[in-house]
Amino acid sequence: MKTAIYPGTFDPITLGHVDVVQRGLKLFDNIIIAVAGSSKKSPMFDVQTRLQMVQDTFAGDLRIHALSFDGLLVKLAQKHQATAVLRGLRAASDFEYEFQLAAMNRKLDADIETVFVMAREEYTFVSSSFIREISTMGGDVDALVPEAVRLKLRHAKGVKTCLD
Ligand code: ADP
Repeated sequence: MKTAIYPGTFDPITLGHVDVVQRGLKLFDNIIIAVAGSSKKSPMFDVQTRLQMVQDTFAGDLRIHALSFDGLLVKLAQKHQATAVLRGLRAASDFEYEFQLAAMNRKLDADIETVFVMAREEYTFVSSSFIREISTMGGDVDALVPEAVRLKLRHAKGVKTCLD
């Protein structure tokens, strides 16, 4: 059984992330999606909500397990006997950060490989920050996020409209 761990902020999960997971399933038997708790990014959604949206998105797929985490990724990988870290690459702009992260994780545990996959071309421009920004300004992002996120964003918009 080959297990990979897919860490991220998932604020919120997008169809780009979903595509990365689906590609990962061609390479691994199981994927653990690890939703980072204390992100430097000051997330829009709290970790419980981000995790819930991930869980709802993959509900019923026994190959995927989602959890939240704080602390060292390599320790989490060791705990779950994951042999790889799964990450996605969009454009060259992702490369520098991803390269540093992979190199650092390799320093911490040389046995854990980082594997990169490219999402479908139409998701190349999709990022959680783009989704948050467009949605907050009232734009339609339904085609770019899973159903669980559509519902959550619609709810957030409704609350905002009531407060305006
Ligand atoms: P982080 O804060 O760790 O970067 P993100 O949730 O932003 O967390 O991203 C997690 C991973 O998913 C990163 O490797 C990122 O490059 C990748 N990713 C996000 N969106 C896409 C996309 N549209 N296509 C391919 N990879 C993506």
